[in-house]
Amino acid sequence: MSPNHDPTAHRPWRQIQRRKSRQVRVGSVLVGGDAPISVQTMTNTSTADAKATIEQIRRAEEAGADIVRVSCPDEESTAALVEIVRAAQVPIVADIHFHYRRAIEAAKAGAACLRINPGNIGSAERVREVVQAAKDHGCSMRIGVNAGSLERELLERYGEPCPEALVESALTHAKILEDHDFREFKISVKASDVFLAVAAYQGLAEACDYPLHIGITEAGGLRAGTVKSSIGLGMLLWSGIGDTIRVSLSADPVEEVKVGYEMLKSLGLRRRGVTVISCPSCARQQFDVIKTVEVLEERLAHITTPLTVSVIGCVVNGPGEATMTDIGFTGGGKGTHQVYLGGVPAHRLKDEAIVDHLVKLVEEKAAAIRAGQ
Ligand code: SF4
Repeated sequence: MSPNHDPTAHRPWRQIQRRKSRQVRVGSVLVGGDAPISVQTMTNTSTADAKATIEQIRRAEEAGADIVRVSCPDEESTAALVEIVRAAQVPIVADIHFHYRRAIEAAKAGAACLRINPGNIGSAERVREVVQAAKDHGCSMRIGVNAGSLERELLERYGEPCPEALVESALTHAKILEDHDFREFKISVKASDVFLAVAAYQGLAEACDYPLHIGITEAGGLRAGTVKSSIGLGMLLWSGIGDTIRVSLSADPVEEVKVGYEMLKSLGLRRRGVTVISCPSCARQQFDVIKTVEVLEERLAHITTPLTVSVIGCVVNGPGEATMTDIGFTGGGKGTHQVYLGGVPAHRLKDEAIVDHLVKLVEEKAAAIRAGQ
C-alpha cells in the first residue's frame, strides 16, 4: 500500500465515517467538520517560566503537535503567556479553572482557545465578560468536563459519575455559552475509566454537533496509559467520534504527541512521517531485527513526509510485506538481504551498514515524494 494511493478506495472495511460536527477555529488550526483530527499535548513546566515552557512547546512542535495547552493558575502565568504565544508556532490553549480574570488575561495575551467551564466562573456578569473577551480576541473555548470534578448536584442526583451525568454537565455548560450567543467551542467529557469515558463521548456525540476533544484522562504512565488510551480513543475514532485528541500520560509531552500520531496513523486518519512495519523476529531472522528497527526509528524520526518501510527478518513474510510498502527490506541467507523499492526487488545488501543504507533510501524517497515524483 503506497501512501500515495487512497488506501480506502477499494477497501470499504478500511473506511471510517466521521461524525458530522461543527467546525471551530483554534488559532490557525481548524477543529471539527472535515478538518484533520488534530493532536494536542500539554506542557508540565511552570507557565510563569516562559523560557522552559517555550522550550517544551518547541519539542512538542517538532514531534508534530498541532495545538499545545498550558495551565494558567495565576497572574504570573498569564503574564508569561504573551511571550509564550509569540514564540510558539502552534496555537496555544490556556487552561483556566474558576478564575474568570485569568481567562480574560489569557484572551488578551493571545491564547487561541480558553479551556474553561462557564458554569464554574460564577455570576452571569463574569461569564458575559469572559465571553466578550473571547469574542474580542478571536478565542474559541473548550468546555472540559471531567468525571473527577463533576458538579455536586449532578453527583447527588446520579449517585456517582456516569455517562449521563457527564453529558448533562457538558450540555449545561454549553447552554450557558449559547445563551451568550457563543458557539465557537469544543467539548470534552473525560474520565480515567475507559468504559465511562467512551460511553460519555458516545452520548455526547448523539446529543450535539459540537466538535469533540477526546481523551482518557489520567491514563497512567507511558506503557499503561498508551494501552488504555489506545483502547478508549481507538474505539471512539474507529466509530467516527473525535475531532482533536490528547493522550494524557505521566510522561514527556513529546511521548503524548507520538502516541497520538501513532493512533491516528494506525486508523489511517492522519499520515505523518515514516511508518515502520517490522516483524517481532524469531529464530529464522537473518539479521538483528529488533536492534535494527530501534536504531532506524530513531534515525528516521526527523522525517515528516508520510511513507512506509518494512523491515522483516526473513523470507517468510518479507516479500509479502514489501509489496505493500514504499521501501522493503527482507533478511536473506548468508548475510545477503533483499531491498525492495515500490514493492519490486531492487538490489541486494550485505550485512554491513543496513541502517545507513535504509536511512539513505528513505531520505531519497521522502525528497522524491515532496517533489511530487
Ligand atoms: S518474518 Fe521471519 S524472522 Fe520475522 S518473525 Fe516471521 S519467521 Fe521470524
